[in-house]
Amino acid sequence: MRSFHLVRANDRPAAVAEGAASHTAQQGASVRFLAGGTTLVDLMKLGVERPERVVDINRLGLDGIHKQANGDLFIGATARNSDLAHHPLVRDGYSALSQAILAGASTQLRNAATTAGNLLQRTRCMYFRDSASACNKRTPGSGCPAITGTNRMLAILGTSEACIANHPSDMAVAMMAYDAVVHVQGVSGDRQIRLMDFYVLPQQRPDIETVLAPGDLVTHVTLPPPPAGERSTYLKLRDRASYEFALVSAAAAITLSNGMIASVRFALGGVGTRPWRASEAERALVGQAPSEEAFRKAAEICLKGARPQTQNSFKVELAKRCIVHAFKQVVH
Ligand SMILES: Cc1cc2nc3c(=O)[nH]c(=O)nc-3n(C[C@H](O)[C@H](O)[C@H](O)COP(=O)(O)OP(=O)(O)OC[C@H]3O[C@@H](n4cnc5c(N)ncnc54)[C@H](O)[C@@H]3O)c2cc1C
Ligand code: SF4
Repeated sequence: MRSFHLVRANDRPAAVAEGAASHTAQQGASVRFLAGGTTLVDLMKLGVERPERVVDINRLGLDGIHKQANGDLFIGATARNSDLAHHPLVRDGYSALSQAILAGASTQLRNAATTAGNLLQRTRCMYFRDSASACNKRTPGSGCPAITGTNRMLAILGTSEACIANHPSDMAVAMMAYDAVVHVQGVSGDRQIRLMDFYVLPQQRPDIETVLAPGDLVTHVTLPPPPAGERSTYLKLRDRASYEFALVSAAAAITLSNGMIASVRFALGGVGTRPWRASEAERALVGQAPSEEAFRKAAEICLKGARPQTQNSFKVELAKRCIVHAFKQVVH
């Protein structure tokens, strides 16, 4: 691992000022915030991340979880994934989020991993993690060996000719369905970013993954209160039952009124270059009876733009079945 300078930030302005010294907040950043370290330290050991300064943000008091006066759920940036998954407000009101977190990684990792770190984890594409390989995300312009190589796990939605890497987070998929808002403190003050607008598509610059700028410190995430009577679930399909990333996953939330679908929110994991909100398919479901046929039609809409690669065309049908099954679980 390249040598680096570790700084312990004692207040947020100091952390922001440290981060702002970097020329980018994306791949190649010379300053990185350290939360649980379960993504960052791995990538530093692999030589994929090579920050000169690492700013420990664990003493900033950003680990709260509570209901705000306006009814939103407040989730601190350094709240541990385990604490979030087991919090009564999450288990009771946002069960797909609790399930999504518990479906990821291992108990030990979830005890260390944090909210912001989870949202900002990096793709598991094997070429990205191997500094000896070409990779447009790690070294812009060097090429994408995954397109003709090993791509079974990678994305089928939102890809570009430059990159087909999928976003690996389970938690982010549930947060996407729950209309999460990311709160950021930066050099020009505080701002709020809908999670829908937080991640950018790879297009020609897959090294740029989010709208974050140097110095931007995620302070917390908020979730609006769920509609009365909403039921939700997270279904994760993977190669083995635990300690494995999703091939396909779905976070599905629904309310019924007089036997018909009154509101629906859903997002997919494992298949998109970012956690994939299925807005068009949601609109098609509202007002319908909650039948297998309606869910299948929504799944077809959701996957109509899929561009499978040489090894992952199976994900198209798997994703459709995952959506149908998740909704059947919720309504029955
Ligand atoms: C073996 C293994 C299996 C895993 N399996 C799964 C899985 O099945 N599903 C899943 O979803 N995840 C999985 N993960 C990923 C895991 O969830 C993430 O590594 C973890 O959530 C990252 O959180 P962290 O706090 O450790 O982040 P860190 O490593 O500390 O940080 C990650 C990135 O976020 C940035 N960052 C952190 N906090 C902030 C902040 N407040 N503001 C701005 N930037 C910030 C850091 O600078 C860094 O770039 C797995 C990880 C491992 C190692
Ligand atoms: S898919 Fe993206 S991350 Fe993977 S090798 Fe290609 S450019 Fe790199």
